[in-house]
Amino acid sequence: MVGIGPGDIALLTQQALAALGDCEVVIGYKTYTRLIGNLVNDKKVISLDMHDEIKRAKLAIKKASQGKDVCVISGGDAGIYGMAGLILELLNKEEKDRIKIEFIPGIPAVSACASLLGAPLMHDFVVISLSDLLTDKELIEKRVRLGCQADFIIVFYNPKSKKRRLLFERIWQILMKYKSSHTPVGIVQNAYRDNEKVEITNLKDMLNSKIIDMSTTIIVGNTKTYVKGKFMITPRGYNLARGKNRRSFTR
Ligand code: SAH
Repeated sequence: MVGIGPGDIALLTQQALAALGDCEVVIGYKTYTRLIGNLVNDKKVISLDMHDEIKRAKLAIKKASQGKDVCVISGGDAGIYGMAGLILELLNKEEKDRIKIEFIPGIPAVSACASLLGAPLMHDFVVISLSDLLTDKELIEKRVRLGCQADFIIVFYNPKSKKRRLLFERIWQILMKYKSSHTPVGIVQNAYRDNEKVEITNLKDMLNSKIIDMSTTIIVGNTKTYVKGKFMITPRGYNLARGKNRRSFTR
């Protein structure tokens, strides 16, 4: 199970590179097999469509059971809304004993996007996916509400798809209810890929952004987050005025 990071192959780990170099078969969603295409053109590459996750996972298990060295790739980290859990869930007892599985971490979108925005995640944060394919809308809304109430920085994955637009507006209404309309919001589309776009706006204007789709991650600040030049910062809480490393964290 290999996390390939956000896109640029310079952000693959050495372990991921070695695993991809050693394997015989690469299986992944086609956006990802395309991203690493040049690295694996001597392998058998099986690219599948989005929503074929179960098929992809079963195929990987079958190939590995036949003794093949298989890399199942996920964007970012395979263990974060990726394929890692599904593979483990699907393994039967016999396969579990026979197949050796290794998980190779990758840089997740949350880190990649934060790095392009400055330092927005210096304090406690939650990551919430707005995809309602496998999660009830009510639960998503509840998590956003509770995240706001606890003043977490909130990172949104899968913010808006072609078919799902209304939920994003509903989530924005919840954010507006609990957070100040001036709260900084960082929006990153296609981080470390061709067509990368980075915007810093505020909660009030967030809905006007034209770069929000399924290739976008959004980071909504906490009550302390501010913008300095082209960067977004959430202070960790150091007492800068006294020039010492004394802690002054919120209690
Ligand atoms: N396993 C991945 C997440 C998969 S969920 C990880 O660890 O990052 C897919 C969502 O991740 C997308 O809808 C988008 O919100 C976010 N994402 C993935 N790659 C991204 C990128 N290069 N730039 C911005 N957001 C990205």
